[in-house]
Amino acid sequence: MSKPILWIVIPCYNEEQVLPITAPMFLEKIHSLTAQGLVSDKSRVLFVNDGSRDKTWELIQGFAAQDEHYIGISQSRNRGHQNAVLAGLMEALHSDSCDITISIDCDGQDDINAMDEMVKKYLDGAEVVYGVRSKRDTDTFFKRFTAESFYRLMNWMGAEVVFNHADYRLMSRRALQNLESFGEVNLFLRGVVPMIGYKTDKVYYERAERFAGESKYPLKKMLAFAMEGITSLSVKPIRFITSTGFVIFVINLLMLIYSLVRYFMGATIPGWTSLAVSVWAIGGLQLLAIGVVGEYIGKIYLETKHRPKYIVETYLHRDE
Ligand code: UDP
Ligand code: MG
Repeated sequence: MSKPILWIVIPCYNEEQVLPITAPMFLEKIHSLTAQGLVSDKSRVLFVNDGSRDKTWELIQGFAAQDEHYIGISQSRNRGHQNAVLAGLMEALHSDSCDITISIDCDGQDDINAMDEMVKKYLDGAEVVYGVRSKRDTDTFFKRFTAESFYRLMNWMGAEVVFNHADYRLMSRRALQNLESFGEVNLFLRGVVPMIGYKTDKVYYERAERFAGESKYPLKKMLAFAMEGITSLSVKPIRFITSTGFVIFVINLLMLIYSLVRYFMGATIPGWTSLAVSVWAIGGLQLLAIGVVGEYIGKIYLETKHRPKYIVETYLHRDE
């Protein structure tokens, strides 16, 4: 088997402070992987400029002029991290000269050395290899707490995500082809990639601090991101409304019995019985009705995503 061509895909948004430090590290990694005989020398470092307003794109152009291993694409405007990663992955897929991609942030927080292990796991047959943070000691307590609650909440809400895995992952050409067949506009890669299936593996690494510059993910963006993940992967919030409606409706029946008992005992003032019962009955019925309407909207929502209904891994009767 010839050596796989690796493209390292790196989204960059206003990263002029950190790129001069990390870009040479990525190139160095390609050289070392090549020297170990793990990947082909035709491997590339692909920068995706996500509409930066600083000198990021000028820097990328400079790298590309220096060494043929550096390449780049620039987006027409800022579209957010997820879309920047997808743009890079699809560029790699359509280049026809890329066998595997590894997506990674450009700030040095994800340990570049985990790539060796990732490629080895690919060579052992894994089509997707997730980079998982084993420790987050360098993150502040607040960041760690909010981030880990985020993964728990996601799973609890019915979105399957790999715990403590961000978007540092290896994907094979085949996995990318299938990723492309997902018709999502509201993209949440961490939830979609596990849906692809195939043989997957994990590589653990310690998350470091940013080498320079500031995080582009303040709390506000993280909350929006969590919301995006939940609403684009699960219709559980609608289920909550339906079940709350059901519970209130049951309470209503109990209230009915209670009020009638009180009424016949003569322990109520006129009008209380009908009022008490109707408040619960109407409340419960309304929530139930909203929930039922919601169920249908949820179905329509999932239909509009045009996700592939199945992905075949192996054909016995076809030449691949
Ligand atoms: N990023 C991007 N577009 C954005 C925001 C961020 O391409 O709109 C990139 C950013 O340059 C970095 C990665 O996404 O490479 C992760 O961002 P950051 O390090 O700020 O997030 P954190 O690690 O703090 O969660
Ligand atoms: Mg970061």
